[in-house]
Parts: sequence; structure tokens; C-alpha cells
Amino acid sequence: MFQFPRLEFDPSADALREEVRGFLADELQSGGFTPAADCWVSAADPEFSRKMGARGWLGMTWPKEFGGHDRPVAHRFVVTEEMLAAGAPVAAHWIADRQTGSHILRYGTQEQKQTILPRIAAGECFTAIGMSEPQAGSDLAAIKTSARRTDNGWVLSGRKIWSTGAHFSHYMIVLARTSPAEGRNRQVGLSQFLVDLSLPGIDISGIRDLGGTPHFNETLFDNVELPEDALLGTEGNGWAQCMGELALERSGPERFLTSLVVLEKALPLIGAHADARRAVEVGSILANLRVLRRMSLGVAEMLERGESPATAACVVKEMGNRLENDIVQRLRGMLAGIPRHAWPAGFDVLLREAILHLPSNTLRGGTTEILRGIIAREMGMR
Ligand SMILES: Cc1cc2nc3c(=O)[nH]c(=O)nc-3n(C[C@H](O)[C@H](O)[C@H](O)COP(=O)(O)OP(=O)(O)OC[C@H]3O[C@@H](n4cnc5c(N)ncnc54)[C@H](O)[C@@H]3O)c2cc1C
Repeated sequence: MFQFPRLEFDPSADALREEVRGFLADELQSGGFTPAADCWVSAADPEFSRKMGARGWLGMTWPKEFGGHDRPVAHRFVVTEEMLAAGAPVAAHWIADRQTGSHILRYGTQEQKQTILPRIAAGECFTAIGMSEPQAGSDLAAIKTSARRTDNGWVLSGRKIWSTGAHFSHYMIVLARTSPAEGRNRQVGLSQFLVDLSLPGIDISGIRDLGGTPHFNETLFDNVELPEDALLGTEGNGWAQCMGELALERSGPERFLTSLVVLEKALPLIGAHADARRAVEVGSILANLRVLRRMSLGVAEMLERGESPATAACVVKEMGNRLENDIVQRLRGMLAGIPRHAWPAGFDVLLREAILHLPSNTLRGGTTEILRGIIAREMGMR
């Protein structure tokens, strides 16, 4: 298995890393899963999520009163790294554990926290992101989905697209317009809703990606009646809340480790055919991984302190996506000259999957061009 250097600043995480590696080795040996590239998006296994919940590896940093475990961010980081490096089937709970739970913790009512967070931490409640629409991706403020007040709550109408895992999720956080924009300022008048996906009037249909996997969806909301308390946070504060949610979404190790499982499987083979060119390639990848890892952990610590490091998260994602795509392309170069029959069993499938997922790395969660624009603006460019 890929040997991550220990987290020097938190040696308490070392024992946890061994525990996670032991669990993964047992699961692999018993046929519990087949390693997958891009596992956090395309490999969903609710049973595996429940096993993680039972071990206390979901909602790790949340308070105990909401089913969490009050552990430091470095511990969650270790579990995340090991799961990604193993290509484990973590997609079912990924969004709920990574962002929805923390978002509810920050903006939710006491009741939302009490009813939903313990279920997420147990690996029994999954969630989806309802931001993008057919005409509103990069230009998110152009969304048309609307929620209008009624005597009993809200009526939600519109269409969301590309929502990862919506087909198995229990809730979706939907960004909707609740009042008109103020002239050209379209970020005004938006609100977030915590929508129970079992409500009448919701229709979810799968969309296949380049490799044929239907991991994301189109969701139609046809006059869906929402209770008053479906509002998440403050009415009209949806844009600011969304930006906070995106900081959670953009900065984790999954933004640079998606392809690591492929490298990990290839390393013994590359090692058996070691030469100066291959050594330089591997060394360069590992150097970049170490830097990104420190940056990502730094953002996680800022989030934990209640800060909103939106631009720092963009930097991690921009650099991380380039690296994870680079890993696969460089690997193809390193494999040149090594006969196919020497490849480990199943490696061709893993490599093919990784190649087919490359285009989505720089699109999902905000495109590279958009991230660069945000970073440049922070430096004073208009
Ligand atoms: C695998 C995957 C999973 C996803 N999961 C989710 C999800 O769970 N929930 C969700 O809400 N959305 C999800 N998305 C949608 C994703 O956030 C959008 O695809 C992304 O924001 C881009 O929007 P778009 O597809 O409408 O492309 P567009 O915004 O139309 O962009 C098309 C191209 O134009 C470029 N471009 C656009 N505007 C500018 C500009 N101002 N300057 C420079 N270049 C620009 C973009 O960089 C891009 O290359 C997912 C997407 C993918 C691929």
C-alpha cells in the first residue's frame, strides 16, 4: 500500500492510520470491495458506509451531542487519505460527511442537527448538492429554481442537474431564488433548502458520464411543498452560505488523490523497471503530493476554526486537479516499454476508469478557469 508520511504535527493520528489500514486490508481480502479510481464519486456501497459509521469514522470532528466524535481534523484527514489511496467504496456517504453535515452544523436549526447529523455519522443518511442547473453552472447566480412562501412553508419549483448521488440520497441542499435580484446583483435573493428527496413532486433521473456510469442526476421539482423548517440558515443568505459550502467541497484530499490508487497499484511494476526517467517522475509526483497535503490540511484547520477560506480552497482544488490528472498522464508515460502481460491483474480496468474520469476532475465543484478567476480577483485583478 502507498506509504503516506506520518503527520508529524499530530502523532496521535498514527495509531488511527494503522487501524484504518488494517480494516481496509481485511475488507479487501474478504472481497468486500474492488479498488476503484474516482471512488468518492463512482463507488457507492451503503453497507461499507455503515461499517465506517460503526467504527466512528464519519462525522469525526462534529460534537458528540450530534452523533459526532469530537476528534481533531488530522484524524478525519487520515481516514480520508487512506480510503482514497485504497480506492474504497466511499461515495454513498462522501458528500454528507464532507460538507452537508458540517454545513448543517453551522447553519442548521437545533432540530435539523438532532435529526440528521447522527444519521449521517452512522452512515445511514446520504445527501446531494443541488446547485447547478442547465443554464447555471459557472454562472451559479443565474439559477431559475425558485421557492415561494405559502401559509405552511414553501413551494419549490425548478430543475437541478449533475447532482452526484441524488438517486440514493435522502436529502439535497437546494439553492433557490426566494426574492428577485437587486438589479444586476443576482447574488441577492437566494436561499438554501434542506429538501427531503422522498417528497411528492420530485423526479430524479440518472445521467451517464463518459465511462457510462450514472453517478450524477437531473432532479425535477414540480411544485414541491416544503415545510417551513426546510429553510437552511437565513432567507436571502443563500449565496454566502453556498460559498462556505464550496470551501468545504473544494479543499479536501479527494481534490488531488483521486488517481492515487492507480499509481499505488503501478508502483511495484514501475519499481521492477526502475530507471532514471521513471524515478524522476515518481519523485516529482510525490513532492507535489506532500505540498498539496499540507495545504489541504491547512484549509481543513481554518474551516475547523470557523473561518471561510474560500480562496485558499480554490488554490488547493486548482493545483490538486492538475496533479491528479498529471499522475495518470505521467503514469502512461512510465508504463511505455513495459509489456502489458506484466501488468497486475485488473490494472487495465483501473487505468481505463481513471482516464475516463479525468475530464470531470477539472469541472466538478467549479471549473479550473473559474477557480483561477477567483484567485486572480483576490490578488486585485478585476
Ligand atoms: C462529475 C461531476 C459531478 C458534479 N456534481 C455536481 C453536484 O453534485 N451538484 C451540482 O450542483 N453540480 C455538480 N456538477 C456540476 C459542476 O459544478 C458544473 O459542471 C461546473 O460548475 C461547470 O458548469 P457547467 O457545466 O454549466 O459549464 P459552464 O459554466 O457552461 O462552463 C463551460 C466552460 O466554459 C468555461 N467558462 C465558463 N465561464 C467562464 C468564465 N467566466 N471565464 C472563463 N471560462 C469560463 C468553464 O471553465 C468551462 O470550461 C458536477 C459536474 C461534474 C462533471
